[in-house]
Amino acid sequence: MKDKYNRKVEYIRLSLTDKCNFRCNYCMNEEVKFMQDNELLTLKEIEVLVKTLKDLNFKKIRLTGGEPTLRMDIVDIAKIIKKYFGTFSITTNGSLMYYLADELKKNGLNEVNFSLDSLNSENFKNITKRDELQNVLNGLEKSLKIGLKVKLNTVIQKRNLSEIFDLIEFAAKLNLPIRFIELMPIGKNYNDSDFISEKTLKDKINEKYNLIPVKIKFGSGPSNYYLIKELNSYIGFISAITHNFCSSCNKIRISADGKIYPCLAFDYHISIKDVILEEDKLKEKIKFAIFEKPKRHYLSKLTKKTPMHKMGG
Ligand code: SAM
Ligand code: SF4
Repeated sequence: MKDKYNRKVEYIRLSLTDKCNFRCNYCMNEEVKFMQDNELLTLKEIEVLVKTLKDLNFKKIRLTGGEPTLRMDIVDIAKIIKKYFGTFSITTNGSLMYYLADELKKNGLNEVNFSLDSLNSENFKNITKRDELQNVLNGLEKSLKIGLKVKLNTVIQKRNLSEIFDLIEFAAKLNLPIRFIELMPIGKNYNDSDFISEKTLKDKINEKYNLIPVKIKFGSGPSNYYLIKELNSYIGFISAITHNFCSSCNKIRISADGKIYPCLAFDYHISIKDVILEEDKLKEKIKFAIFEKPKRHYLSKLTKKTPMHKMGG
């Protein structure tokens, strides 16, 4: 379906929960208040939603959160998506993937984005507040071993800038694309002094490697990729702040409690919880949400209040 600016919207980020077992410094703090379990979309509601999205010709679903793997019925949700879409992808902190990868792959999972901001256990703890690096690496190894398509996502900040070569070389060794994400002013945990721009990052990478721009795409996201010839590997930049990519935006987000966010950068949302079991009304609300997608974001000028884990990052 097209929005009013003629962008084709066919990609859904579906959040399964706002809960997380990590506390990444830019995302949430220890005192965070989560949704009540009875506010979350039920399995039945998710089935109607997924079927309706398929009827509306959506092409791709990515599960996210919070941490989507914390949802106890994730395998049942996978089965539903497999029934209508065949396959799906997931964005995860990876800490539970060692246990879930097999079962999810059997039920349609074909692509995993691992969020990995550090390879140093102390710095990993400093960023996520959890001593989980080894579990994430185990989950990554398992996912690769069973043949899942994997990408790495790293939010770049002052506190992990010194690790970029370790991260790039780690990804190259595993033959994985790694994408560096610019920190966005979303949620009250955002701190301007942590921000590192794409340009600063590229200047630093250029001290050691040549970045050759390439047209290649891995998946349907907004990343611009470069080849590092010396390593024969690809790195991407997702720079919502300094390289606006709104004109090619192809997605909407649905939160774990059934709110459609037409744009990541606005608190504005449309609740579908009240109509979610009525397919025709649900279709109309989804179409309306697509129509309401704003032309662009203004994130550099304002901080959005709804944190990423509540709307589905
Ligand atoms: N818990 C899962 C994870 O971390 O991959 C999925 C949800 S998380 C909200 C999705 C992605 O959003 C992660 O890659 C995370 O690093 C990123 N993220 C969260 N807050 C952000 C912010 N303020 N700016 C940029 N990226 C952010
Ligand atoms: Fe959890 Fe993901 Fe937020 Fe980190 S970014 S706290 S892993 S939801």
